[in-house]
Amino acid sequence: MADQTVLEINLSALAHNYRALRSKLKATTKFLAVVKAQAYGHDPDPIIHKLDELGVDYYGVAYAQEGAQIRSTGTKKPILLLHPMPVHFDLIVAHNLEPSIYSLDLLREWTAYLRSKSIKRYPTHLKFNSGLNRLGVTHRDIDQLAEIFSNTDSIELLSVFSHLAASDDPDEAAYTREQMQRYDDFFADLVQKIDLSEKGSAESEVPANKPWRHLLNTSGVLNYPEGQHDMVRCGIGLYGYGNAPEKDLLLRPVAALKAPIVQLHHLQKGESVGYNRAYVCQHPCIIATLPLGHADGIPRIYGKKAGFVWINGQKAPIVGNVCMDMIMVDVTEIDCRYGDVAIIFDADHGAQSLAEAAGTISYELLTGLSKRIKRVITP
Ligand SMILES: *Cc1c(COP(=O)(O)O)cnc(C)c1O
Repeated sequence: MADQTVLEINLSALAHNYRALRSKLKATTKFLAVVKAQAYGHDPDPIIHKLDELGVDYYGVAYAQEGAQIRSTGTKKPILLLHPMPVHFDLIVAHNLEPSIYSLDLLREWTAYLRSKSIKRYPTHLKFNSGLNRLGVTHRDIDQLAEIFSNTDSIELLSVFSHLAASDDPDEAAYTREQMQRYDDFFADLVQKIDLSEKGSAESEVPANKPWRHLLNTSGVLNYPEGQHDMVRCGIGLYGYGNAPEKDLLLRPVAALKAPIVQLHHLQKGESVGYNRAYVCQHPCIIATLPLGHADGIPRIYGKKAGFVWINGQKAPIVGNVCMDMIMVDVTEIDCRYGDVAIIFDADHGAQSLAEAAGTISYELLTGLSKRIKRVITP
């Protein structure tokens, strides 16, 4: 039962998904759980506690403030910061976040900052742009990179990684292979150029270990497990979505979004529903109002029958425009009453089918769910 709009978070589904993804990997491969954007809209606190218990090795976030929030859950695990910015350097160090350096500019600012604070061997990662063309250093930067890494003791280069552009798309397999090849070439070249022997600690003669490698996101793990290297970075799969119907079967959606019917309207032919009269009844109809709207993360694109909810096992289209705080659905053919619960998505009616009906993806629907929706944890 839902007496208000709730996002139920099922932690056993999270455990199932973690094990399903892990089962594709060698025992020695590290697992980074991507928990950016409020753990994909789920609520980081319970998710982190569960993932800590399950034994993930690393967390990944986009921005420094998110990293600070993850740190405040009490986790002691390392946190990879995917998008560090100079304005956040103090925050990064204060919360022991590990930045991913993606350009020569950023690398220079980061080493200058560390030097100014007399910080030595700060755990740092390097992101290589293998073809997503979003963030990352290129092969042309390699001599300058090697020179900086060889001559600084401010940084400990822990890993060199990259990110695939279309790991979920079988039609782009050739491009994915090309990205893998560029990443391999860059890594081999960089390691050869960095003078690792210089980086051994003074008291031992042993050279520092090579940086380790990671490339795959969820669809990478599911479609190209041979590219797993030393670690993988999974987000959407942990929350139960595999970006393809046959992959979805391996996973269980963690979140269920539910809202009660707060009012029913019996309307005559010609009467309209909602703002701008965007829906006009073509016959007598019954309309149910639900307490969630675009301020909760159901954008207007879901209106005008693009989106739908499930009530007593039947599909009810969203009619008219989505309001800020409410949607109206057509329940003319559905046996339902005041207080009955509408399912927007759940384990049986996945967020991806609703998102796809409106021309978007599960990631956007999940991460857009606003703080106003109450999160309820189920074991
Ligand atoms: C968001 C992100 C991921 C996680 O991707 P999923 O498809 O959700 O598994 C991994 N790596 C990077 C660099 C990311 O930005």
